[in-house]
Amino acid sequence: MTAPIKQPLNIVLIGPPGAGKSTIAEALVRERQLVSISTGQRLRAEIKAHSLIGRAVAPYLDKGELAPDSLMDRLLRASLETLDPEQGFLLDGYPRTLHQARGFDGTLADYGRMLHAVLALEVADDEAIRRLSGRRICEGAGEPFPVHIDDLASMLRCQERGGRLVERDDDQPNVVRQRVIVYHEQTRPLLDFYESAGLLRHINAHGAPAEVARRALAALPAVQA
Ligand code: ADP
Repeated sequence: MTAPIKQPLNIVLIGPPGAGKSTIAEALVRERQLVSISTGQRLRAEIKAHSLIGRAVAPYLDKGELAPDSLMDRLLRASLETLDPEQGFLLDGYPRTLHQARGFDGTLADYGRMLHAVLALEVADDEAIRRLSGRRICEGAGEPFPVHIDDLASMLRCQERGGRLVERDDDQPNVVRQRVIVYHEQTRPLLDFYESAGLLRHINAHGAPAEVARRALAALPAVQA
């Protein structure tokens, strides 16, 4: 048996759009007391705030393209900068290109951290597209949460809380297709990169969110108490 690794636990989550990254990230963060760093959420908040960064990245997100590596690298550094060194992280959405992955190695070294595992959520393209085209965000009822138009229970939960359903701009069908293409072209090569580094763990992302979260949790390395 391998000895448990020392805290803090640092994890990267990779998966195509529609794999359920943010849902699974939420479960992992809760169960393992990690800080969540979601680059997609961060960019959407910048866009909402009409900040300089927001205005710079909006055209990329609108088209389903990736934001520039240099900007993402700086954004990631800024997130790690403010993180308590004792605190582990769950990174959802970065790295997303080979360039980012190589730069990330240097960034981790600069902050005296190591990466313990990369979880790759795997889902078929047609299922990912089905999930995204029916996805809505329930807003105005506390913390926003995703619902699916085929999932009556989640729709009712939103209604009962007085929330309203909002569609993410990049969940429009033509943008979704582009996001999936970009994933295959630019992000999938990271799986080989992390496989070679001995860090990759494949997670079957088909099935109910609780079931996928259970698989992801089981794939996390043990840490010292
Ligand atoms: P999804 O994985 O479902 O497409 P995310 O919320 O992770 O959704 O990301 C939304 C968008 O934000 C991406 O399509 C991309 O434009 C941008 N983005 C997020 N993270 C990165 C990154 N590391 N590099 C470049 N662009 C990014």
